[in-house]
Amino acid sequence: MFAEIIAIGSELTCGSKLDTNSQWLSRELESLGWTVMRHTTLADDMDAIVSEFRAAAARAQVVLITGGLGPTLDDITRDALALAFGQRLIRDPESLQHIQVLFAARGREMPERNHRQADRPEHSDVLFNSCGTAPGVLMRVAAHGEPMSVELDDQEISRGCLIAVMPGVPAEMKPMFTQLVRPVLLDSGMVLRRSVIRTFGFGESDAERLLGDLTARGRNPEVGITASEAVISLWITARSQSAEEAERLSQETCQLIRERLGESVYADSDDELHDVVAQLLTLKNRSVALVEGATTGGQMAMWMSENSTVASVVKAALVIPGQWDTAALRTVGVEMPGIEIDKPDDWLNAATVVSRNMRLIHRVDFVLLSSPFYDEPLDSGVVVRRGHVAVSTPKETLSFDVSMSGNLAIFRQRAARTALNRLRLIVQHASLVRNASP
Ligand code: ATP
Repeated sequence: MFAEIIAIGSELTCGSKLDTNSQWLSRELESLGWTVMRHTTLADDMDAIVSEFRAAAARAQVVLITGGLGPTLDDITRDALALAFGQRLIRDPESLQHIQVLFAARGREMPERNHRQADRPEHSDVLFNSCGTAPGVLMRVAAHGEPMSVELDDQEISRGCLIAVMPGVPAEMKPMFTQLVRPVLLDSGMVLRRSVIRTFGFGESDAERLLGDLTARGRNPEVGITASEAVISLWITARSQSAEEAERLSQETCQLIRERLGESVYADSDDELHDVVAQLLTLKNRSVALVEGATTGGQMAMWMSENSTVASVVKAALVIPGQWDTAALRTVGVEMPGIEIDKPDDWLNAATVVSRNMRLIHRVDFVLLSSPFYDEPLDSGVVVRRGHVAVSTPKETLSFDVSMSGNLAIFRQRAARTALNRLRLIVQHASLVRNASP
């Protein structure tokens, strides 16, 4: 069963306001088992609105519309609705009275232009607005636009389209949907089960190649791939007529994904990588110190101080923003000449000595480090930002090249996640014997 959402308002199409209503309504509809096929945003233009109403009603079983119910002349949603489905507008006496009462309660006289807020197409019902003046409208039309009764049997539901028009103001739209529209939409006949798997270490196309047929369109469950800040998320949507079957299908596909992507999977939930690492360290009663050069520039410390659970595993965090020269290294209690950052061995030596000192001073099990970075222009004109991260364990210090071109924030997040992910894999595998000696 398909749904569409239409957001109306020139303030949305010109970019001065963001359409958050459609996002919220989509989540609500999906939780009820409706598949949302389309979001449309329209300016306050009669022709565009009328033709979109007709087209949406012919395609979908549910169309939710927000905006354009205000008292001003540019609020034309009610008029467009009547015009689209060949109905007269009538003034609803109960709505009019409700608006009058609201104005009286505010000690104000109701302006003439607010009267039109009580208008609705003749074959429709009013959705009362418990938080504002603009009532909503609920109506059913057949696919060819003929009006239908709001009370229908199941067979008629699959033929017609339910249209709900709600105010644009989110604080008015949300309660109206929850109290009056949601109950009418409860029986979509489908259960949707959505889950997410988070991975780190692959690119989007590598993940797609490894997942193969699992990402085929039309498959149930459907597997979608999104990439954000170097994390690849797999969105699994299982559809079935029963909750048990949807759950079973979802579990089966999640298991296949885990088998194909192996250790790059770090969470079966919305959890961030740093949360997962902190949970692991807490579970194993281990601690960490951070020493960050400009490659991560404090990104790890920022993530690891987000909440008390994460913070409790970090015993010390230090950012060295500039070069690792003699003076900077002295701040971590290390007496050695500055490192030459374009020499990876130099960096690894410094990381090893700094880690040894941090372990001695702070009695931690692990140290995560990142180097200073430098920009290297290539002949092609591309500039590569060169940097390293390191994970120091009681046994060894391992360094990883995180060089890349492009945006500094993405470089830092990817570098920080590389360090955290390496630590995750080490902690997951290690049969850890505490060794606080350098
Ligand atoms: P009212 O009569 O209560 O003002 P309305 O239906 O006329 O409601 P609009 O005039 O279209 O609503 O919008 C009022 C305000 O609501 C906008 O300025 C905007 O801040 C917010 N708004 C409208 N549509 C959306 C949307 N799709 N997402 C988020 N906010 C919205």
